[in-house]
Amino acid sequence: MNKLDLIHELWFLKRELVSDDFDRALNRLADEVPMTIHEYPSGEPCWTWRVPEKWTCHEAYLETLDGRRLLDYADHPLHVVSYSLPFEGVVSCEELLPHLHVHPRLPEAIPFVFKYYDRDWGLCAPQTLRDSLQDETYRVVIRSSFEPGVLKVGEVVIPGESDESFVIVAHLCHPAMVNDDLTGVVVALDVARRLLAPSPDLWERQAGGEGSTFQPYYTYRILILPETIGSVAYLSHHEHLIPKMTGGLFLEMLGNDSPHALQGSFQPLSQPDRCFTTALRGLDPTGYTGAYRTIIDNDERQFNAPGVRVPMLSLSRVQAPKSSGLPPYREYHSSLDTPEIVTQERLEASLNVVLGLIQAWEHNQYVVHNFKGEIFCSGYGIWIDYRVNPEGHRRLFEIMERCDGTRTVADIAFELGLSFQAVWEVVSLLESKELVWLSRTPQQTNP
Ligand SMILES: [Zn+2]
Repeated sequence: MNKLDLIHELWFLKRELVSDDFDRALNRLADEVPMTIHEYPSGEPCWTWRVPEKWTCHEAYLETLDGRRLLDYADHPLHVVSYSLPFEGVVSCEELLPHLHVHPRLPEAIPFVFKYYDRDWGLCAPQTLRDSLQDETYRVVIRSSFEPGVLKVGEVVIPGESDESFVIVAHLCHPAMVNDDLTGVVVALDVARRLLAPSPDLWERQAGGEGSTFQPYYTYRILILPETIGSVAYLSHHEHLIPKMTGGLFLEMLGNDSPHALQGSFQPLSQPDRCFTTALRGLDPTGYTGAYRTIIDNDERQFNAPGVRVPMLSLSRVQAPKSSGLPPYREYHSSLDTPEIVTQERLEASLNVVLGLIQAWEHNQYVVHNFKGEIFCSGYGIWIDYRVNPEGHRRLFEIMERCDGTRTVADIAFELGLSFQAVWEVVSLLESKELVWLSRTPQQTNP
């Protein structure tokens, strides 16, 4: 099923952290790809956290005392604060207002408000409705319940040659919203599909190679989970996998009309950071990069945190970094985040960027010289005439002198301010002439 159709099917579900609709959405995704669903019961300790209860809102509304209904949960799931306490009664307008949340920027929209752990009762309304309240008292009904449940984490594993893994994460716990967070989920699902049945173009090099199998080098783990607690639950119950996690990428906000923003990990000099920031230059010149926590905060925080320290970057479409004071996109965390603001075309373009990043990650190895001194380029037919192509000539020599067994393709691209792909092209050429070879570990070959 294509990404936009899947979004239309799932977006209006009440996908709360632990809820029937979260399970419905995850089960539907599990129809699309082979998925293991990990279960963590309410109350289960996860490092310093505990899995919360299952939350269900059965009915909720705000009425005038003569029975005029001002808002109704049945019309939109965002009308009730996620994990709101139950409440029923007649309250003064003054008492109501602190519990009636509005969007900070969009007067017509219902905001997304959640109080998962620091609980209170609350309703959400457009600013226009709040401004129109003139009665002295109102009737509030919130029939919500908390009960023991099971938090679910979906995992798709694509086995590689190595048990060293790369983790891709997207969260699924934003009720009735699309760009944040379903777009990351459907793109991650397509990444899983492509890795499970790769076409010859995906791995490029292995295409004509021995056996023509397309098994990746790294094992890929694609996780679909409720934000934060889902990552903590998974990591705390798979501690043995953490030392083998070489890097990761968090995905969301991939359907709106903004450029790609790649946010670095907590370890800005790590191989995934160098590889992805240089690869993005070749994949989408309109994209930009930002340091850890300067663009958007999501599950990558749990992977980058103390005791875990997996360098996880994130890819999203964000109009400007946080320092601009702008929201990530206009409709962020509101009822206006609907299928109308995302397009299949942009989802497809983002999928291609993610696949391109993964391809670079697979290619990123130490480049070891089979030569000593400077290569006699004319003798190998690889000399670039500096009079015709001065830039190409300079780059060829700058790349060659860095092929010394201590630098990866990403290191060379990073040092020279080039795209990963530009360096890869030269390295592939040198490899085809048997002037260099590629290694997963550094090689000291100096005399
Ligand atoms: Zn969000």
